[in-house]
Amino acid sequence: MRVRYLGASDPLSLIHGKIYSVLAVEKNWYRIVDETGEDYLYPPEVFAVVNSTHMVFCHDCGKKLSGTGVTVTTDTHSGVRRQVCAECARFYKD
Ligand SMILES: [Zn+2]
Repeated sequence: MRVRYLGASDPLSLIHGKIYSVLAVEKNWYRIVDETGEDYLYPPEVFAVVNSTHMVFCHDCGKKLSGTGVTVTTDTHSGVRRQVCAECARFYKD
């Protein structure tokens, strides 16, 4: 998991806006290699989780979608927008 630090910058701990890798989550705190090059525990409140891979899954079949294969359809019954793969998208077209 990768997180973006949202707290105040400190050159000896963490820099605001920089993305860090979480090595582990211990008692709900993030273990992060900070600017000193050593890993320390930090509270999760000062971070935002970054979806680094932008993984999207087909709403219907659960297949992982690549960026180009994503089709957003609107369910005519519920009006809910959902992302589906090209195969599943065919069933939404009249
Ligand atoms: Zn699908």
